[in-house]
Amino acid sequence: MNLTFNERVAVVTGAGRGIGRSIAESLAAEGVHVVCVSLNPASCGAAAEGIQAQGGKASSLAVDVSDAVAVAAGCKQLIEEFGCVDILVNNAGITKDGLLIRMTEEDWHSVINTNLSSSFYWCKGLVRPMTRKRWGRIINVSSVSGIVGNAGQINYSSAKAGMIAMAKSLAKELASRSITCNVVAPGFISTDMTSSYQEGDVAQQLLANIPLKKFGEPKDIANMVTFLASEEANYITGQVFTVDGGMTI
Ligand code: NAD
Repeated sequence: MNLTFNERVAVVTGAGRGIGRSIAESLAAEGVHVVCVSLNPASCGAAAEGIQAQGGKASSLAVDVSDAVAVAAGCKQLIEEFGCVDILVNNAGITKDGLLIRMTEEDWHSVINTNLSSSFYWCKGLVRPMTRKRWGRIINVSSVSGIVGNAGQINYSSAKAGMIAMAKSLAKELASRSITCNVVAPGFISTDMTSSYQEGDVAQQLLANIPLKKFGEPKDIANMVTFLASEEANYITGQVFTVDGGMTI
């Protein structure tokens, strides 16, 4: 299927590596100008340079997405430069796992802020020009943990469930302006975030619960995000798309 993109500009957070980098590359391959955002200037810079080396359009912005003031300044700068950022992919995220009895307040707040509050900051900073343009795509990268829960991840599961509720509420708020808001919920994807679970007994236990008997690749998530960002997905909003090899059937 050939997807249609009309000279769009996208922000992808957490684009320095893993799923975010794959999403950035996939959108850029469709002709979208992608602003690669991550914490580290070297990693988002390398992602943007990689896209440019393939003939794509990209730039980079190093921002701590959990910092409301820094995100607001970044959004202002992007709106001055592009007029409107058409596609927002809230992908940056972290885990700080632990059982409730051992979880510190710091571990709670940093995971909520980096995954959930950051999505609010970006939406708030970029939505106004989308409403004027009467076109927009907001895609939150959540997790199956936000749907079915996961022991040892109450902070992460709560943040990811919040990203789902945020997208559904925003879908209702913004539908009259033709802005769609959807969620992609990955299962177990091979990235640095999951590197300690990819081998040995832990990997075998995880694979036993995945009907397709393999871990996903970042590209599996990027494919779904790219479709949702395209013109062809114009009648889909407020939905959650699980990409997990059947793990949560
Ligand atoms: P990753 O750790 O490989 O990459 C995360 C990216 O987010 C990095 O580029 C990092 O720089 C960026 N980031 C982290 N904190 C940031 C901050 N404060 N400010 C700016 N950037 C920040 O992770 P990944 O596996 O590629 O995961 C991407 C997203 O997918 C995350 O939201 C994650 O929760 C979600 N997810 C991943 C899996 C999986 O199995 N890998 C499963 C479900 C959901």
